[in-house]
Amino acid sequence: MSNPMLANPSATDKNVLKKYLDLPQPMDKILATYIWIDGTGENLRSKTMTVDFIPKEASQLPWWNFDGSSTSQAEGSNSDVYLKPVSIFKDPFLLGQNVLVMCETYKYDKTPADTNKRASCVDAMTKAKDTEPWFGIEQEYSLMDRDGWPFGWPKPHGYPQPQGPYYCSVGADRSYGRDIVDAHYKACLYAGVKICGINGEVMPSQWEFQVGPCEGIDAGDHLWMGRYILHRVAEEFGIVVTFDPKPISGNWNGAGAHTNYSTKQMREDGGIKYIEDAIEKLAKRHEKHIQVYDPKGGLDNRRRLTGLHETSSITEFSAGVANRGCSIRIPRSVGEQKKGYLEDRRPASNCDPYSVTEMLVRTTVLNERD
Ligand code: ADP
Ligand code: MN
Ligand code: MN
Ligand code: MN
Ligand code: MN
Repeated sequence: MSNPMLANPSATDKNVLKKYLDLPQPMDKILATYIWIDGTGENLRSKTMTVDFIPKEASQLPWWNFDGSSTSQAEGSNSDVYLKPVSIFKDPFLLGQNVLVMCETYKYDKTPADTNKRASCVDAMTKAKDTEPWFGIEQEYSLMDRDGWPFGWPKPHGYPQPQGPYYCSVGADRSYGRDIVDAHYKACLYAGVKICGINGEVMPSQWEFQVGPCEGIDAGDHLWMGRYILHRVAEEFGIVVTFDPKPISGNWNGAGAHTNYSTKQMREDGGIKYIEDAIEKLAKRHEKHIQVYDPKGGLDNRRRLTGLHETSSITEFSAGVANRGCSIRIPRSVGEQKKGYLEDRRPASNCDPYSVTEMLVRTTVLNERD
């Protein structure tokens, strides 16, 4: 396996960088990196400004703007898009008191931009607040070389041994890219992202991290920040992260964002009754959910939800205990304890978690039907 740093003409010497990162930073100068979802609904952008105080919450930070014509978010003639800070994390790259700031995007007339799915998610979560909705999201992703082929796979365009030994594997012949996974885990913990685990996945160079349980809007905020930190960590290693739900076609597993979900009632003794009620409502609204479970109205998931590779059919709703071929799985322990949570296995790895968590709450708690 070649060292990707050598093949990367834009790679720089991190030892030289360190000299500058170690420079003392004036106490009253804080770097705030504003992060937003661009016009694709799946890619992230960021830019940084100096503020002269230590921000403790997002609302203390000023709104900002960017050139929306460069991110497919506005016309060149009316290009300013606003950034509204909504949650802050510690910056694991610039360290000190510096912060990463998750932002919502707003058009010139202060209405939410098309790919701002958070605004309506907040509305749903506010209405559902008394039910205390929790989410835990399993984010699968694949590591790629800059040539677009999976990291560690034979070049050019060669394939490793078939799937079987890779899931949760150890060893240089089967576990590709653990440096990135470990660095990302520590960076998320430092930042304050509620990461709760990682594992190697079925396709070689595919991994998963889990975030949660988070209540309400936090699930989306923490997952998006976890994704941002992952892109940044991988960038330092000269490796690319893709959240494409089927990066390699054929007999290779796709990638999902299984969303584990519960309300207060589901978590209490006898909660299985409420889990079953929710599944009944979900069954009646399958297509509506599929439409928002990837950023292309279901097209991305069509490549992934084939009924093979531990997925269900995209056209048919199904549910079952411990069954990984279903739309909704009730984990075995939940079936035994008769309380807990359900797992929605349909969301694609590149889904917008604001849309997924919003739809779950609108269908099961707010009883929306259309
Ligand atoms: P799997 O067995 O499907 O691979 P994981 O261990 O990867 O499951 O992920 C389980 C997820 O479920 C975690 O993100 C965790 O935060 C979440 N979770 C656990 N309990 C709850 C709950 N009561 N409500 C919602 N999510 C939960
Ligand atoms: Mn400028
Ligand atoms: Mn998992
Ligand atoms: Mn998984
Ligand atoms: Mn799962």
